[in-house]
Amino acid sequence: MSGTLHGDPERFAGGLSEVAPGVWAWLTPNGMWGESNAGLIVGDGAAALVDTMWDQRLTRELLAATARLTAAAPIELVVNTHSDGDHWWGNAEVPAGARIVTSQASLDAMREEAPPAALCRLRRLAATARVAPGAVGEMARYVSGMLAPFAFEHVQLRFPGETFTGERIERTGGRDLRLIEVGPAHTPGDLVVHVPDAGVVFGADILFFGVTPVLWHGPVENWIAALDTLLALDADVFVPGHGPVGGRAEVEQLRAYWVWLAEAVGRHHVAGRSAMEAARALVRDPGFARFAGWTGAERTVINVTTIHRALAGKGPVPAGPPARARLFAQVAVLAKELDERR
Ligand SMILES: [Zn+2]
Repeated sequence: MSGTLHGDPERFAGGLSEVAPGVWAWLTPNGMWGESNAGLIVGDGAAALVDTMWDQRLTRELLAATARLTAAAPIELVVNTHSDGDHWWGNAEVPAGARIVTSQASLDAMREEAPPAALCRLRRLAATARVAPGAVGEMARYVSGMLAPFAFEHVQLRFPGETFTGERIERTGGRDLRLIEVGPAHTPGDLVVHVPDAGVVFGADILFFGVTPVLWHGPVENWIAALDTLLALDADVFVPGHGPVGGRAEVEQLRAYWVWLAEAVGRHHVAGRSAMEAARALVRDPGFARFAGWTGAERTVINVTTIHRALAGKGPVPAGPPARARLFAQVAVLAKELDERR
């Protein structure tokens, strides 16, 4: 079996699979950093693409795999589900005539995110700091590994040309697509795509299956409400932004994680513990055992930090490199501690 982009053994099969008639999922194992999924809905003479990849090379692989389907049904619509680069930085590869749609809040966030050149700089910095002692070295090695597989130096950004707020129905090749804004949760403007005629939901990064989710923005209550919105839809196939395709049980398990984490972080916050202390305690908590099989347990510290800040009346961790670097230093330290326990 081949390895993942990050060189780990595959935990599920990647590539293109038909999850319902004319509805395809493109999966990237194991769903860790930048190992994102996409979707294709093929109608009569036209198709819609849900998300592109973190770089153009990976997006070309996706488009090559779907070429046999889009020959008779060209991609006319692209939906970007949110502002993280691993869901839209490949947009320059889609047909020039295709419309690209996202939520207004996502477009605003896309314009504020660090551009590809900043990630190239960060990667160079991390490469030189790999040998540094202590937490700096831990962080540098973690961030180097996280960014290594991606060709950011060749990314030309193409921003969505249309936005909406709330809900919007798109019709592509005779099929309805319901675009439902459920953010802010993972990011400021998350949206999901429901294909009612197929009972399929592309949940984007409101759904992480088999991999620890990341709460960049919050509040966590909105993420739980978003999962309730998904569970209320007429659907039984759920394609996550990261991880393998699942059903209602996986959505419910993720909901249970957020409910448990929000309550547990509250307890540690009242006890006066820092986010890092709380995260360390929580990955050892018996309540965490249900979720301990997910990849990337070290991301718990990001989730705890965001919830912790909200309890202290603060907003999300700023998206700029200094604040994110401090956070990733803690992620890297927790990853090392978890590794040592294995
Ligand atoms: Zn993602």
